[in-house]
Amino acid sequence: MGETQLPVSPHVLIFPFPAQGHVNSMLKLAELLCLSGFKITYLVPKNIHQRLLLHTNIESRFSQYQGFCLQSLPDGIYEGSVSTGDDVVKLCDSLNSVAVPFLRELLTPKSDWNNTKSPITTIIADGIFSVVIDFAQEIGVPILYFRTISACAFWAYFSIHELIEAGEIPFSGNDMDLAIKKVKGMEAYLRGRDLPSFCRATDIGNPILKILSKETRETARANGLIMNTFDDLEGPILSQIQIHCPNIYTIGPLHAHLKSRLAAANSNSAPNTSSNSLWAEDRNCIQWLDQQPSKSVLYVSFGSHAVVTKEQLMEFWQGLVNSGVKFLWVIRPDSIVDQNDEEGKSKSIQEELEAATKERGYMVGWAPQEQVLAHPAVGGFWTHSGWNSTLESIMEGVPMICWPYFADQQTNSRFVGEVWKIGLDMKDTCDKVIVEKMIRELMVIKKDEFLKTANEIAKLGRKSIEQDGSSYCNLDRLIQDIRLMSN
Ligand code: UDP
Repeated sequence: MGETQLPVSPHVLIFPFPAQGHVNSMLKLAELLCLSGFKITYLVPKNIHQRLLLHTNIESRFSQYQGFCLQSLPDGIYEGSVSTGDDVVKLCDSLNSVAVPFLRELLTPKSDWNNTKSPITTIIADGIFSVVIDFAQEIGVPILYFRTISACAFWAYFSIHELIEAGEIPFSGNDMDLAIKKVKGMEAYLRGRDLPSFCRATDIGNPILKILSKETRETARANGLIMNTFDDLEGPILSQIQIHCPNIYTIGPLHAHLKSRLAAANSNSAPNTSSNSLWAEDRNCIQWLDQQPSKSVLYVSFGSHAVVTKEQLMEFWQGLVNSGVKFLWVIRPDSIVDQNDEEGKSKSIQEELEAATKERGYMVGWAPQEQVLAHPAVGGFWTHSGWNSTLESIMEGVPMICWPYFADQQTNSRFVGEVWKIGLDMKDTCDKVIVEKMIRELMVIKKDEFLKTANEIAKLGRKSIEQDGSSYCNLDRLIQDIRLMSN
């Protein structure tokens, strides 16, 4: 009789795109897999590694799991801001050229690293790194893709080829409101302006458009696709994607899913979760919120990439103040740009606004967002419609005003306003009168209506992560499949 082979303990290498929203959700996935006893190597550039150590409790949080390793990539990764498509291209190019040679060296059977760790049995890569699919196939390791965006934005990216063939893109500025017919399943509500912002390029050879179209199509080559969404939210669009990528694991909303699994693992005692922020959180705003009436505050934040000019900032501020609604506003220190401004002046504008705002609002450089959205005083969220922010708001039943900045956000905001009916889409305007009007509509005039719909969707979200819910079952299936892949 031959020797019985012992099952190999899964060791998963997770490789996120190094930006806040991606690092955040893929770290939540990492923790969910750690809870199942998997070893995890989490691969990030050095600057992200340092910021995680500085601003989060990642070391103490993950110390309870054996075999979690935060691994730095070598130098050479673009470290500038990522607020335009060109920046995204620079970052992708640098990652592609640095990461694969590094992975090859790291994972070679004779490397020092490999000798001290168990072999990598599965790779989970952010779904815009098809070079990693080539590499994984070359070394014979299964690879899963994780797309951190919504299914609706993913599907719009997937359809770029059809949009170009049908002449629906490129479109001129005047055609922004024309109906888009070539993203199947979205014909009833998609206009040019609701496509991901990079589709606004006047030249179809534009590098970012080409990268996103190609990389999204390549998803079909991975062994499976993990998505941070839930079936009751995006079912019809997921069915379209499934025609091309049959093996989809919808396991979101990950932040809430992790919290509930941690609570179950800790016998329902308060789980030791924390954010994965790359900026220092100002927690004083929670005490300020504690003093505000229920559902009275509008939380305002445009995420980690969006930048605004001084003029835009002033329109926002005047609209906010004129609305008469109290607000908690996140203004990242690096988020105000003004070419005509001398360096450092933007900071003083922020300080001026802060001083003038004391009566009505509170400003911070970075907030503990999940906690803010869960606070009873928060009744609305003026957001840039990043996918993590959208899901965090959905799960707390907080209606939104959407001011999408770039990328997938243009599509998410359309779904919030037109499909899920849990907010208002303010895209492509920046006018104090509209700001004031929308805030009053969301927070005063149609408050109850919006809260009702938002609560109904939040209920569906909660159901999906309960035992036997769709995301719960899909996570179990993912864990099981990774175990099978490891043997
Ligand atoms: N976030 C935060 N504090 C802030 C602003 C944002 O913790 O003041 C977090 C937020 O909870 C979310 C992430 O940063 O998880 C932003 O991701 P999202 O996908 O919404 O947008 P991105 O920053 O990628 O544009």
